[in-house]
Amino acid sequence: MQLRYNYRVYPTLAQQQSLARAFGCARVVFNDALRARQEAREQGLPYISDGDLSKQVITEAKTTPERAWLGEVSAVVLQQALADLNLAYRNFFASLPGKRKGRKVAPPRFRSRKDNRQAIRFTANARFKVMDNGRLRLPKIGDLAVRWSRALPAAPSSVTIVMDAVGRYFASFVVQVADEPLPPADAEVGIDLGLTHFAVLSDGTKVAAPQFLRKAARKLRRLQQDLSRKQRGSNNRKKAVVAVAKAHARVVDTRRDWQHKLSTEIIRDNQAVYVEDLCVTGLARTRLAKSVHDAGWAGFTAMLEYKAARYGRIFDKIDRFAPTSQTCSACGRLDGPKPLNVRSWTCPCGAIHDRDVNAAINVLAAGRAESLNACGAQVRPAPVPAPREEAGIRPRATPCSTRSTEAIPIPQGGENVNGTGTP
Ligand SMILES: [Zn+2]
Repeated sequence: MQLRYNYRVYPTLAQQQSLARAFGCARVVFNDALRARQEAREQGLPYISDGDLSKQVITEAKTTPERAWLGEVSAVVLQQALADLNLAYRNFFASLPGKRKGRKVAPPRFRSRKDNRQAIRFTANARFKVMDNGRLRLPKIGDLAVRWSRALPAAPSSVTIVMDAVGRYFASFVVQVADEPLPPADAEVGIDLGLTHFAVLSDGTKVAAPQFLRKAARKLRRLQQDLSRKQRGSNNRKKAVVAVAKAHARVVDTRRDWQHKLSTEIIRDNQAVYVEDLCVTGLARTRLAKSVHDAGWAGFTAMLEYKAARYGRIFDKIDRFAPTSQTCSACGRLDGPKPLNVRSWTCPCGAIHDRDVNAAINVLAAGRAESLNACGAQVRPAPVPAPREEAGIRPRATPCSTRSTEAIPIPQGGENVNGTGTP
């Protein structure tokens, strides 16, 4: 399995300038390539192949006076920017009607200097190196100081250098790690994710929603007001922007740490974990949107999924149309829809149900049933987490192993690190 390991890095002023140049070059190559494809399309010409595009916007462009400066950065960085674009196109094509299930993917967009996140990627070809003295050597950038919060478990296959909205720098390594099956556990659990509680488990445990964003709301509102009073283009305004971004980043970081702890605990204690597959995009358009985004269910289920695969547990999502909150978990009677304010109800069979615990028990039952169906009486192995792999990198295929990348959201208020997915 491929995991991502993130560390804070502290480039010197000179290195920051080199990085800024590399971010800029990668962005220009990406945008030139996107423009070339768009123009070809407008003129009714065929889709430009990946190889031709690379020649056009990198190799040939370097020989022109307008783009000669592309030669100042590592060629790998430029190739990886193109790989990102090619992958974005493949995902877009794959999501066109009839090709693939799931959410629609928008066509690639131009990158901007003002984007909240700037990133460049070095693969092994670029000969980046973790030095014995703990510094990270990057071609044409220099040796960066890294805060190694924990050791890398193996040699990384790539490193992405990210600058976030707050101006912090991170090195995000992709590392192939061996699975580490935990000793078998007896328990199995169904999880109902909700708004009154973050999660309710089929054993009756209720995990309160921490509401990090709501708790920080007051401070955020004050910072936002400060910002709105500052003159456009002033230095004080720049400072205020950073303060707002920092406060948001803190919310994201805290939420992620909390979710890591909870998901690790659940995976450690249970042999099988089943979750109701929520229609998050649908809910996020309702007036509950703020709470939905604050909860961050998608990130949490992604953590459960990859940890299950890594630690030899079963994980499955239950069809979101299963009426888990309407069915009596004792007798199976379908009792009709219950408004959200009905917290407990009594079934004609005599069972008294807590709405959420009952739903979690039904999720567990549905998960068990699906596991049995899938593979006779045998419990099937954990499904592979939706593989997200780096563009342009082909991990060595290891037999019987699953490929996936840990989805650590980098503060951007968003989901995933690189716009990457499997072609
Ligand atoms: Zn009943």
